[in-house]
Amino acid sequence: MTTMLTAVAASTLVVACVGTPRSPDSVAAPGASGPVAVAVESTGATATTSTLPTGAVPATTTTTSMSSTSTSSTTTTTTAAAWQAFPTSPVKPYPIPHGSSPLLSRIDTTDPVVFITIDDGLVRDPRVAQLLADHGATATLFLNSGPIRLDPGYFVPFLWIGGSINSHTSHHPHLRGLDFDAQRKEICAVVQQIDKVYGGNGGYFRPPYGEWDRTTLAAAASCGVRAVLLWKETMADGEIRTQGSKPIQPGDIVLLHFRTDLYDNLTALFAQLDLQGLSVARLEDYLPAA
Ligand SMILES: [Zn+2]
Repeated sequence: MTTMLTAVAASTLVVACVGTPRSPDSVAAPGASGPVAVAVESTGATATTSTLPTGAVPATTTTTSMSSTSTSSTTTTTTAAAWQAFPTSPVKPYPIPHGSSPLLSRIDTTDPVVFITIDDGLVRDPRVAQLLADHGATATLFLNSGPIRLDPGYFVPFLWIGGSINSHTSHHPHLRGLDFDAQRKEICAVVQQIDKVYGGNGGYFRPPYGEWDRTTLAAAASCGVRAVLLWKETMADGEIRTQGSKPIQPGDIVLLHFRTDLYDNLTALFAQLDLQGLSVARLEDYLPAA
């Protein structure tokens, strides 16, 4: 694992591991790849460099509303046996779209896996990345600009465990019906922000509310987005909510949110997956860049 240490502008944090496969347990047990070093330059004259050790997840829950921030301490973690790793054979690289990004709500695979995606970033529970790691799971994040700007370091452990950070627009608007330039601005701004802060983005995009039109797919492609990702299931109140009467299926993409109930929803999801003989795989492994 190559680590990049770069002095950057105030409040900006650079990590050179976006989209890089990592052992799912690397948060809990540092392996050969070691910790990720990040460089943060303070607003003062002195630049400070910090190395965030694997296993050290931020110790406070931070909730962002329009204009206020509050914190509370949390420390709980859980442990579980590791799942079998999938895919077991290489997946064909995903092509760069021409003019219009493809839209996917599931991955075409018969492997007994589903994919976890987490949106927005408003409530940042420090237990979540560790919970994923303890279960050998990972997540693909779709974030708005505010949470990245306010708390960039919170999302770094999700990269350590093999996830990626992706655009979810700057301001979470209803995109459908907006013109190309307006949609492009919302999508591209966060792609560029993620590139700047984390040294790269995952290459995916999720439209807020799952609302899109053909302009959205064209605008996303113009921002370098390889796939626009929707979902098949959501988690709410500890229950999986499927579309129609079908139970959760191999290849399905599951939507969760960075909200106060994320930890409990993930715990409930893992229990349900265990019952059905399913596990969590890296979306990035099933949609690799060409
Ligand atoms: Zn959202």
